[in-house]
Amino acid sequence: MKRRNLLEMIMGGGAAVALSPKETQAQVRVERATRGMPSPKIKDIQVIATEPGGVRLVVVKVITDQDGLYGYGCATFTQRADLVVPAVEKYLKPLLVGRPADRIDDTWQMCYNGSYWRNGPVLNNAISGVDMALWDIKGRQVGLPVYQLAGGKCREAADCYAHASGSEISEVIDSAKKFIAEGFRNVRVQVGVPGYAGYGSTGTQVSAKALHADPVFEPEPYVRRALKLFEACRKEFGEDIGILHDAHERVTPNQAVQFAKDSEKFKLFFLEDPLSPEDLAYFRQIRQQCSTPIAMGELFNSPHEWGPLISERLIDYIRVHVSQAGGFTPSRKMAILGEHFGVKTAWHGPGDVSPVGHMANVTLDLVSYNFGIQEHSPFNEHVQEVFSNCPVVKDGYFYANEAPGWGIEVNEKAAAKYPFGTGEQGQRKKDNGGWGVIRRRDGTVIKQ
Ligand SMILES: [Mg+2]
Repeated sequence: MKRRNLLEMIMGGGAAVALSPKETQAQVRVERATRGMPSPKIKDIQVIATEPGGVRLVVVKVITDQDGLYGYGCATFTQRADLVVPAVEKYLKPLLVGRPADRIDDTWQMCYNGSYWRNGPVLNNAISGVDMALWDIKGRQVGLPVYQLAGGKCREAADCYAHASGSEISEVIDSAKKFIAEGFRNVRVQVGVPGYAGYGSTGTQVSAKALHADPVFEPEPYVRRALKLFEACRKEFGEDIGILHDAHERVTPNQAVQFAKDSEKFKLFFLEDPLSPEDLAYFRQIRQQCSTPIAMGELFNSPHEWGPLISERLIDYIRVHVSQAGGFTPSRKMAILGEHFGVKTAWHGPGDVSPVGHMANVTLDLVSYNFGIQEHSPFNEHVQEVFSNCPVVKDGYFYANEAPGWGIEVNEKAAAKYPFGTGEQGQRKKDNGGWGVIRRRDGTVIKQ
């Protein structure tokens, strides 16, 4: 647009809009800055599969036809990581090469609807890899971090929680104390159950007699043990520390209702996944019978699965594994839906999220008014060798980096040093990174 045309446009075709000379100059500067930005086209899509931290990570790289302009997205489905790679390479790449890289929602809809049968974890993660990469590209193109593209910060940093665990309650308390000393105000606590395989705790000797050779878990002793842990934590830490716990959907629906009620007096920050996705109707009973805050949703596939729990106000925090839901675009929409119903966010952020995915989490934390809390897991030196400029935690707050896009560069040579299987042993290696199975004493498979 020529300067004269711009001025005519500003003048509204004769209807006087009184702009000062300074304002007019500013408009001209904006017009000049944005004019030099032709729409980038997708030239290639590549997949980086790496395991620097002992967890299988999948990252998608979208390369445009503009020199040096590319972006990264997280597509990590740790337990079935190998399947995401061909979903990207054999289906999304042919669909997208040659198309504009700057139409993010349109691209998401194309990919999502293009398979006809949709909402699967493999396909959603593949779409997320592309979706987040396009946000990265747009940020790099304009020289702004993605949080600026999504409206800017609602807060300076994201309050987060660390994972304290141990085979004994005293070990969990000691572990929590270390995090509190580092500045964390919130800690997730998980303790082993003597004789059984637990969730989130290692080192427990499994000695329960079972009719099989797989790890053994029984819900009743787990619930009793967890309640003792909450009591010990409150005694030790008083009321100023947020105590979180993940039930990991391992109890029956009735036990879950009882567990939530019995936990009420310990005033948890939240109780996570008391019910499995198959038992959602029981959330009404929990709601009716106690005020324990509930977090749910990391196992959902479709962005639409969160809808009823949010709109009926049956949970307090949406747990979303952002890549599992299809990426930044659908997750941002879910956050906004939650805001309308007073439901807060608690994006899934353990080690099976790549640093690119963590940056997407922190970005959502910063731009969403209804942010609740952020799960945090540290990046070890190998992860930081592959992914530079990871977001950092200071005094229990997660900070986004301020570089354009997600601000993260992937050292692809370093990534190649850690192929899938690096650091895995035993059954997990045999299961190709999968989680295997856990059974009750009699052999019944337990949800995990
Ligand atoms: Mg969980």
